[in-house]
Amino acid sequence: MATTVPILVICSICDEEFKSKRGLSYHNAMVKKFNTHQSNIDKLPKAIITKFKSIVVFIIYHNLPINFKSMEKQTLSIPCPESLFYAIFSGHIHHYSKRTGAYKCKFCGILAYQTLAKILNSEK
Ligand SMILES: [Zn+2]
Repeated sequence: MATTVPILVICSICDEEFKSKRGLSYHNAMVKKFNTHQSNIDKLPKAIITKFKSIVVFIIYHNLPINFKSMEKQTLSIPCPESLFYAIFSGHIHHYSKRTGAYKCKFCGILAYQTLAKILNSEK
């Protein structure tokens, strides 16, 4: 009698497990949709976006422990208008909740800091 071991497919960004490649494909399609501009999201002046990026850098810099690079995971929530969050992080949004209106981005791996630095125009 042979037993079958279910093969799990894992998203390389969020580590969510799926029972099939189809599940992962659906997940990736949703992620792509989150990063596609919605007509209800206002476009903002570049100066406002740049100013808010510096505020985000300040919040990150002052809310993470000094040795945060050695820790595995850090979570930071920043309340802001949807249009502002979208202007900064579109292309990197990995989760969106219609119910709460919360967006989530996840930066991991050896390029995480470089990616965030590029998005936020900061070397901090
Ligand atoms: Zn994922």
